Amino acid sequence: MTDRYAVIGNPISHSKSPLIHAMFAAQTGQDISYEAIEAPLDGFAATITRLRTTGYRGCNVTVPFKFEAFKLATELSERALSAQAVNTLLLRDDSIVGDNTDGLGLGRDIQENLQTRLDAKRVLLLGAGGAAYGVVLPLLQTGASMTVVNRTTAKADELARHFAAHGHIATHSFDSLAGQQFDIVINATSSGLSNELPPLPETIFAPDALAYDMMYGRETPFMAFARERGARVADGLGMLVEQAAEAFFIWRGVRPDTHAVLSRLRTA
Ligand code: NDP
Repeated sequence: MTDRYAVIGNPISHSKSPLIHAMFAAQTGQDISYEAIEAPLDGFAATITRLRTTGYRGCNVTVPFKFEAFKLATELSERALSAQAVNTLLLRDDSIVGDNTDGLGLGRDIQENLQTRLDAKRVLLLGAGGAAYGVVLPLLQTGASMTVVNRTTAKADELARHFAAHGHIATHSFDSLAGQQFDIVINATSSGLSNELPPLPETIFAPDALAYDMMYGRETPFMAFARERGARVADGLGMLVEQAAEAFFIWRGVRPDTHAVLSRLRTA
């Protein structure tokens, strides 16, 4: 019988996860189905209950449900515990196992696909939501020097406190970034979804900087802003494929070839 999986978010119609998992399944010969499900904003837990009772084996979780997924899980991986956010659920009869593959996905995309070293680089992370929490620890572990800025400054401070045992994280408001430069600027806000630009200073990008937007599928105002100021620009498609591959491995025990899938998506 075909094993069923899904990605849950709100909104979700833009998601490329069903296509990616279909490509992984075809490549590895796994018999699975994978669909996109929009949960009502107040209906995440009810959606998971429905999936469990109808035989789904796992799901990915995206905006804005990653913190709720963390709370709902009955078992957590170390990655999920450190992130306090969950993007991958393994649905078992007697348990819901939460994991977080976002950080690993971002690290693989920047270091392997984009051939950009993170160690000793000045990294600015925009945002302090689920996506940001998911990537902080793997970034700190590379030896990068980390700064976090968030529209709601208190949340950036909370994030820095949460990870303090793993390394120092400087925090800023967007206003207090003036005069600073970074080698890698990662947009982990959802500003692209509403076509908005986080209020960054004009001179934020160091020479040869990489501007990385976790969003994918179209040029965001952040990507356009960075391109106009001479930065190298990447969207989050590579991260999406890499984090999906790790989720696929958790569910199926098989590692797909991400390079083949990513290049097919890029040329499509
Ligand atoms: P959350 O809803 O948990 O957090 C949203 C964050 O964005 C908060 O820090 C919020 O700030 C900030 N924000 C929202 N609008 C603006 C704005 N106009 N200007 C500045 N900051 C803003 O979302 P997630 O963290 O889960 O997801 C964030 C993004 O990352 C999404 O676009 C998602 O698609 C993408 N993503 C991509 C992945 C990939 O594989 N490529 C994986 C994971 C996420 P405040 O606290 O002030 O509200």
